[in-house]
Amino acid sequence: MIPAVMPTYARSELTFERGEGPYLYATDGRRYLDFSSGVAVTSLGHAHPRLVAALTEQAGKLWHCSNLYQIAGQQRLAERLVSLSFADTAFFCNSGAEAMECAIKVARKHYAESGHEERYRLIACNGSFHGRTLATLAAAGAKKYLKGFGPPTPGFDHVAYGNLNEMRATVSKETAAIIVEPVQGEGGLAVASTEYLKGLRAMCDEFGLLLIFDEVQSGMGRTGKLFAHEWAGVTPDIMALAKGLAGGFPIGACLATENAANAMTAGTHGSTFGGNPLAMAVANEVLTVMTEPGFLPQVERVAKVLRAKIDALAKAYPKVFVEARGKGLLVGLKCAVPNLEVLEKLRRAGLLTVAAGENVVRLLPPLIIDERHVEEAVGIIDAVARAWP
Ligand SMILES: *Cc1c(COP(=O)(O)O)cnc(C)c1O
Repeated sequence: MIPAVMPTYARSELTFERGEGPYLYATDGRRYLDFSSGVAVTSLGHAHPRLVAALTEQAGKLWHCSNLYQIAGQQRLAERLVSLSFADTAFFCNSGAEAMECAIKVARKHYAESGHEERYRLIACNGSFHGRTLATLAAAGAKKYLKGFGPPTPGFDHVAYGNLNEMRATVSKETAAIIVEPVQGEGGLAVASTEYLKGLRAMCDEFGLLLIFDEVQSGMGRTGKLFAHEWAGVTPDIMALAKGLAGGFPIGACLATENAANAMTAGTHGSTFGGNPLAMAVANEVLTVMTEPGFLPQVERVAKVLRAKIDALAKAYPKVFVEARGKGLLVGLKCAVPNLEVLEKLRRAGLLTVAAGENVVRLLPPLIIDERHVEEAVGIIDAVARAWP
């Protein structure tokens, strides 16, 4: 018999009843150190007092009024995101996939309205992940996720991640944009080099293409900068955000330059729940916390400590681990043994992590951790690796 909850996830048995900072408390009475953050979502940890206050204050005032009216929180969040980034405008939705759908639509509309309807194709990278809608699945091109869902949405080409020559050879008169994750989250924590991102920007400028960065996972402080592309000093024309943006309240955002979004006029796109006052209240508070002096430098500092220790673990246990990967607090441990077995043993020892492609275990702690939490996590990983049969 099919479970009442459609069984699209291979779920663990654990049920959590509350969270506090980087810890989750399960109904089995145990406490877990959460180095998954709900897959990079609870960026400020669980039950952050300022986020709870922002949400409950808004909850007593207004939940929803639709986008047929002005929404003050939306105006404020958009202005702040614009001032903190390359962008001139922002569209709010409810998930990463929707943010990427908007990015694709913005790019196609830009060319269609300038008399170039033939320029509808987008080039994306192997190993990428952009969401589970039909268009975002086609964008990423992973066969295992597309199988059985009919003909993939047309208009996407795929090349190797990090290969500028192949990208260049794939650009045609029909190309509208290039889509890249500055760090491949689901794919296995490959990090784009500065040279690669600079090369993509130059290529887009040369051929008149729009550059789309999917920062749904890498954005919002996860790498120690507000956006991962800041490390390379390269800006896109369009960017998708979601996961960490409202610390666990559903949200997505598509940011764009004025030029890229010039054809997005009234009626071209929409979302019933997008930009809802509750999501806006929490996201505005997340942004306030993240932009306070010292917050991101502290993320960078603690990330360096974690990475040094993970590098050391990888060296110390070559039978279990191959190498450490990733950037900031988006860390991957490539395993020499099945990653799911490592993940399961870590969970039993009280540390929650997430699997990624290429046999990687992902460590995605909330950005509020300090060195004690790093010590605790590293101690657990060390014990599991040492006891490996
Ligand atoms: C998670 C993720 C998405 C999809 O986000 P959803 O909120 O699950 O739709 C898209 N792109 C990247 C890079 C992601 O990590």
